[in-house]
Amino acid sequence: MSTSTGAVTARLLDVWELGATRPVTGRALALLTAARPEASPAELAALSIGRRDALLLELRTRVFGDRVVGLAGCTSCGELLEVEFSGSDITIAEPPPGPAEGCVLRAEPYEVRVRLLDSRDLAGIAHESAVPAARDALLRGCVLSASLDGREVPTSQLPDGVMDLVEQWLAAADPQADIRISLRCPACATAWQQSFDIVSFLWAEIDALARRTLYDVHRLATAYGWRESDILAMSEPRRRVYLELVET
Ligand SMILES: [Zn+2]
Repeated sequence: MSTSTGAVTARLLDVWELGATRPVTGRALALLTAARPEASPAELAALSIGRRDALLLELRTRVFGDRVVGLAGCTSCGELLEVEFSGSDITIAEPPPGPAEGCVLRAEPYEVRVRLLDSRDLAGIAHESAVPAARDALLRGCVLSASLDGREVPTSQLPDGVMDLVEQWLAAADPQADIRISLRCPACATAWQQSFDIVSFLWAEIDALARRTLYDVHRLATAYGWRESDILAMSEPRRRVYLELVET
């Protein structure tokens, strides 16, 4: 996205249109097409969730800047806190790629071969409303194979202790997938860890940008009779001046 601001806005509008009717995993993939236009949909869907979120954070920085400002409700008294941090504070350096065939975890007498979660896994549990069932399906889905004393066992027969180990491995191997911000309430001093979900945060910002842009297009098209594509192709400063002239 090193082209003009007009071209960037037009591209983001396409992304917004693509993601508007999709569930959240589909929105993440739509946003990724703006972050990595050269990659195929299959390549984007196969990125680990941490890698996906790192690319979305990078895209957000390019479009909206490094500062992230949001609101969080205190988990104890409900007080609303303004939270401010920078995107670089929550960017974790990409870990070196693991073996393509997966990582082997040992929990005697079990041995499991695991892989990282990706967007296809999240799409696969989108219908699951119960959190424990969704967690279980995700964790068992990233087990490639499992054995007990050297004999192959079905993933469904792995005990909870082994699944806890898989969950710990996922958190350590793909830390960008679960970003938490430490907060403390000024009213009641409660401290907690707040999850930061880049997908929904960035989507809300893109949604607001798209609506503002379309409103501007509506005003200019109404005033001058210009076509949407011509208005979107304009640079931001030029469009601003015309909007000011329409106001006067
Ligand atoms: Zn509080």
